[in-house]
Amino acid sequence: MSALRWRSVNNHMQSEPEKREMFYEGKAKKLYSTSDPDLVIQYFKDDATAFNAKKRGTIEQKGVINNRMSELFFNLLERAGVPTHFVRRLNDREMLCKRVQIIPVETVVRNIVAGSMARRLGREEGEPLPRPIVEYYYKSDPLDDPLILADHALVFGWATAEELKKVDELALKVNSVLSEFLDQRGILLVDAKYEFGRYHGEVILADEICPDTCRFWDKATREKLDKDRFRRDLGGIEEAYQEMLRRVSPDA
Ligand code: ADP
Ligand code: MG
Repeated sequence: MSALRWRSVNNHMQSEPEKREMFYEGKAKKLYSTSDPDLVIQYFKDDATAFNAKKRGTIEQKGVINNRMSELFFNLLERAGVPTHFVRRLNDREMLCKRVQIIPVETVVRNIVAGSMARRLGREEGEPLPRPIVEYYYKSDPLDDPLILADHALVFGWATAEELKKVDELALKVNSVLSEFLDQRGILLVDAKYEFGRYHGEVILADEICPDTCRFWDKATREKLDKDRFRRDLGGIEEAYQEMLRRVSPDA
């Protein structure tokens, strides 16, 4: 094959779907449709919110860090056999993803008691759980994402029984892959929130995995390296996000 032909084949394979209109602006990201109806672009902002946007601020470079960290985790999970929406990172703040229909059930996997679980059940933050706990929350800003039972999701048609079974299985797999990876880097995965979506009949992992959506504690010092620094006004927010990226980077 001639050099010219090679280049044209290559160009085609590398060709970027064209970015079209923004169709959703959330608290942390903007979503753009593309010339390919099966693909979207996630743009990661520096905006930070907590307690369902009752507290607002910006975290410098957060978008860049969350985009890179999500890329890293999605790659790791794909290699471990978890289907994700990740296609490739386009630049500092943008990621190309498969367009899914988001299942409006946020799945939280907990390994150590923290946050709302400590408050709700009167447990000490930091208590290790004998096994991971999977919780569901209804994804609804007006209702502040309330904790729900599987039966609520089934009865109100937010997900089918088969989908929830898959969500459970994938969420626990993601939790074990990430926990092991982070443990090797001196980080405890305390808990994390995952979003799943439907893509051509398959349930796949979507959204982002980063210090906004997980609790990361330093294994030795128990220092918080996640959005709790923002939620609880602990200071050193940017530094914590940078430190987390450093810990998970391949050259670390
Ligand atoms: P929110 O304020 O709802 O959390 P974000 O700022 O996190 O929103 O923006 C991302 C939005 O896009 C979320 O609502 C999320 O459910 C949705 N989303 C994530 N990944 C995909 C995808 N691959 N296809 C379609 N929607 C997605
Ligand atoms: Mg979000």
